[in-house]
Amino acid sequence: MKSLSERIEEIRERICDADYIIIGAGAGLSTAAGIDYGGERFKKYFSDYIEKYDMTDMYTAGFYPFKTEEEKWGYWSKHIYTNCIDMGSTRLYEKLYELVKDKKYFVITTNVDYQFMKSGFPSHKVFATQGSYNYFQCSKACHSELYDNTEIIKKMVDSIDDDLRISTDLIPYCPRCGELMDTNLRKDNYFVEDTRWHMQNNAYKSFVNEARNHKTVLLEFGIGFNTPAIIRFPFESLTFNNLDWTLVRFNRSRLEVALEYHKTYRLVPLEILEEYDVSNNFVERYIPVSEDIESVVDELLK
Ligand SMILES: [Zn+2]
Repeated sequence: MKSLSERIEEIRERICDADYIIIGAGAGLSTAAGIDYGGERFKKYFSDYIEKYDMTDMYTAGFYPFKTEEEKWGYWSKHIYTNCIDMGSTRLYEKLYELVKDKKYFVITTNVDYQFMKSGFPSHKVFATQGSYNYFQCSKACHSELYDNTEIIKKMVDSIDDDLRISTDLIPYCPRCGELMDTNLRKDNYFVEDTRWHMQNNAYKSFVNEARNHKTVLLEFGIGFNTPAIIRFPFESLTFNNLDWTLVRFNRSRLEVALEYHKTYRLVPLEILEEYDVSNNFVERYIPVSEDIESVVDELLK
């Protein structure tokens, strides 16, 4: 790998020359921005829950099999409140906006915390593929409307009792079919893709098509292997197939690349990537960054 300062210079030049920028963001970006789901931040806000349920972090806590709706919302309202409703914009997301705001750009993200919009990105330039904390939907997806949950979540949080349960009268039910409501997060086959979701999906696809024959930089932040098929693998393949595109991958530890080799895909470790580069100059158009995202963005903004 080239030195950090060499890579920063390369990224700076590519962004400067680029006609289009596409940002792809996963959980690692919000963690780097300070919205950490574990460690001290988890202990600070969820000590009661750690004691009662033996929870280890907010990610796995999301899968806890609560016995009652009162308990489930006793956790989830606090989770949504802490990570979204009560969470303002963060410096790192604001800096990303500074970095791209004068270019033609589009954002695709699996993050559900609304940070891009909070930090300046207009919502018509963001496609949040996996939903959002601040919307409810029918848990059985009987209709495809979403409901802003800000006020109800605040009320739920206020009603949490010593047993970490919300008050029963706040349990949300679907206004159409009477089933329970749920947060609009993709976790089962009932995820609601509303009109806006489809609009942003189309806008993203159009942007990618428009960028195809132009100099384009893909800035990928903190995407691991939970759902690599949504952003990570497509970014690799788009870069591989478009010779004017550059992929900048920010990732602490997963900098390998999935490359097609004899009609199957192989994860090629960074160390031997050059040996695999048989058909195009992909290696020159792939810039891996394992260093701290914010420090690098700070350098790029200078
Ligand atoms: Zn319903």
